[in-house]
Amino acid sequence: MLSTSTKQQADAGLRERFHRRSLEHQRPLSTAMMAFTVVAFLCFVGARNFVGGPALPLSYRLACAPVLGLLVLAIPRTNTTSAFGAIGVAYSLLLLAGLALNISGVDQPLLWALPALVAIPICAAPLWLTPAHFWVGSTLFYAAALAWLVGVPRTHDLDIVTWMWIAAIGMPASAVFHFGFYRFRRNHFLLESQLAKLAATDPLTGLQNRRAFVKQAEHRLETMAPDARVSAIFLDIDSFKSLNDRFGHVVGDHALYQVAQTLMEHTTAQDSVSRIGGEEFAVLRHEGLVGALALAERLRGAIAAIERPDGYLSASFGVAEHRRGENIMVLLDRADQALLRAKHSGRNRVCAEHALPGEALQLLSEAARTEGGAVVRRQRWENYYLISHFQPLYSLSHQKQVGFEALLRGEHDDGTLVPPVVLFAPNPGNDEGALDRASHAVHLGNAREALPASAWLFLNILPATFIAEGYADQLAAIVRAVGLEPERVILEILESHGGSVDEMSRAAALYREHGFLIAVDDFGAGQSNLDRLFRIRPDIVKLDGELIRATSPRTEQPILPKLVSLLHLAGMLVVVEGVETTEELILAVESNVDFAQGYLLGRPAAEMAPPESVRRRIDDAFDVIAQGRAHQHALFEGEVEPYRVALNSAADDLRAGVAMDDAFASLAMFERCVSCFILDDSGRQIGHEVRGPAWRSEATSLHPVANPRDARWDHRPYFRNAVLLPGVAVTSNPYLSLASGRPCLAVTLAVQFAHERSVVGVELDWSSAGLPWPAGD
Ligand code: GH3
Ligand code: MG
Ligand code: MG
Repeated sequence: MLSTSTKQQADAGLRERFHRRSLEHQRPLSTAMMAFTVVAFLCFVGARNFVGGPALPLSYRLACAPVLGLLVLAIPRTNTTSAFGAIGVAYSLLLLAGLALNISGVDQPLLWALPALVAIPICAAPLWLTPAHFWVGSTLFYAAALAWLVGVPRTHDLDIVTWMWIAAIGMPASAVFHFGFYRFRRNHFLLESQLAKLAATDPLTGLQNRRAFVKQAEHRLETMAPDARVSAIFLDIDSFKSLNDRFGHVVGDHALYQVAQTLMEHTTAQDSVSRIGGEEFAVLRHEGLVGALALAERLRGAIAAIERPDGYLSASFGVAEHRRGENIMVLLDRADQALLRAKHSGRNRVCAEHALPGEALQLLSEAARTEGGAVVRRQRWENYYLISHFQPLYSLSHQKQVGFEALLRGEHDDGTLVPPVVLFAPNPGNDEGALDRASHAVHLGNAREALPASAWLFLNILPATFIAEGYADQLAAIVRAVGLEPERVILEILESHGGSVDEMSRAAALYREHGFLIAVDDFGAGQSNLDRLFRIRPDIVKLDGELIRATSPRTEQPILPKLVSLLHLAGMLVVVEGVETTEELILAVESNVDFAQGYLLGRPAAEMAPPESVRRRIDDAFDVIAQGRAHQHALFEGEVEPYRVALNSAADDLRAGVAMDDAFASLAMFERCVSCFILDDSGRQIGHEVRGPAWRSEATSLHPVANPRDARWDHRPYFRNAVLLPGVAVTSNPYLSLASGRPCLAVTLAVQFAHERSVVGVELDWSSAGLPWPAGD
């Protein structure tokens, strides 16, 4: 029920509107009436010339006419009822003055004055917009008339008749005219208002109907300030049909009424609330998305507390924020789509439209909330919030943090995390790209203050988002909007998700133009391959965690160092992920990896972790490697030294003219000896090879290339190194032998024979596990 003061306010509002309306209605009528009176006055002045008695000069008698004319001209320009009333007062008093000036000198002035004194208040009726105006205007007029008439020479008879006419006919007639006219206008206005209200109201709930809502909303969107924000909330009662079907339409109607009341209770006069149709309602809220979502959530709670015979009502909500230039129908449509998702994802919930990054960013700044001194930003998504966790990356050589990878997490209202399977689950009403884009906005919003000045931010991006039209520009804009530079953002393309390599390399160029760095994530997993890598040409390659542990099957030597050299050769920096143990860290350092990331160095967390103990840990890995390298060097040298000695003595024998088989006889007895050989100056084998115990011809698959006599070997490091250091037995790094298909290494020595230079050598089988390998390349 309306309180007394609210009712008074409503009445005052209605009266105000009526008076303004009267002003508009009576403006033409009053203008016509006054213009006519000016003409009548001029006729009166003219007629006075034909009447006997000494008249005042014409200029005196005409003086009122131009002022009356000005009043006529003022009428169309008058916008307030009080100004209008003031014109009415001036008009009637001026006419009275004009009358007095013209009548002076006639025989029977009262007889002359009588018709005008009766007619003037009647003619002034359209100028009195309100009863107050009428009373003030009429009183002033009659008081002035009385003051004048008292001084006019008069006869007794005419006096009585004049006063009778004025009191009995003039005054009542003007009052009847005014009030009759006023009542007529007022009733008309009330009827019209009532009709307009009926046409705009839903009879069941008393809310605005769809037509009125759309009209009002359109007006509001057109006239709102450029920085004002408005959102639409669309809601639909859940399972309403069952309520009707089971308990009848009266119960259904009552539920609709209760929902309408709930909406009215939770909104303000600045919001428009409407029953759009059936069991669907809409609210146009005077706030941005975050505020509107909060309201929708309150409404959802309040509706869920309304009882129905078999339990409680519930409703699903879709919320969308108005975008500049968009009309109400498009806005409602976007809210409706969000509503559809709310229905699909289980009803009795609020879903927001999928915001564009720029807008999402604005949301983030609004949604900023302070928890324990740290600013945490999150964005509503489905029935939880999206938040960021950050995992540090370290440069191994610098032993310092170089950046953070942002990882998306979902958080419920109570702070529990949404499992990744739920967060990233395919959802029919939900496209993966939208989540991807929203995650960028969330991460950038969070990184804005937390990212250390000299650190990179690593953002994961799906190939589909990466190649999406216009996204490079959008992302650059939002990066700059948070006060970062694209140069500080590294986009990690999730290689395992595939995508057209042509489109990816084209898109990469666009992102590079903005200054972004590009990384390929999870290299070694999914569809990644070297061709894709070389065409996308990332600045950084992140190796799949499994690669760090991958070893060669025969020697159990790690693959990582060679892979890293290959990528370095291609101009790409290398990150290893998933470093969990000290051994893995040591391997990463040893493999010359540039950056590392993993639980050992820092777990993902809501806050960007300070480096602290990690630096020490990396330093220790370097120390371990330095010590290990010396030890390994000693072991390796110990293993190959006997071969060097034996090769030197074989070379001496050869130089002394001993036959090849005899010269190599003792060397060929050594356990790892595959074969002993001599190469000429151009790297071709001279004579046959002398086979040792490790010679095996089981590598049938390599049969076509198994015979070393067919080939030239001067390109091999073992040949070139020997030639560079003549007279010194040099040891090569392990290589894959074509002759045996096994990892081998060679000890070689350049020897000057009588006529030409040759290289004598021995190939050693280095394929068994547990053998020491040379420390470093
Ligand atoms: P959902 O959860 O998917 O929204 O299911 P629902 O049953 O609420 O939706 P549906 O659109 O199938 O049913 C809407 C029902 O609303 C059908 C119609 O009979 C009922 N309805 C529409 N207008 C009125 C009304 O003015 N009064 C009453 N009592 N029922 C109405
Ligand atoms: Mg429904
Ligand atoms: Mg419906």
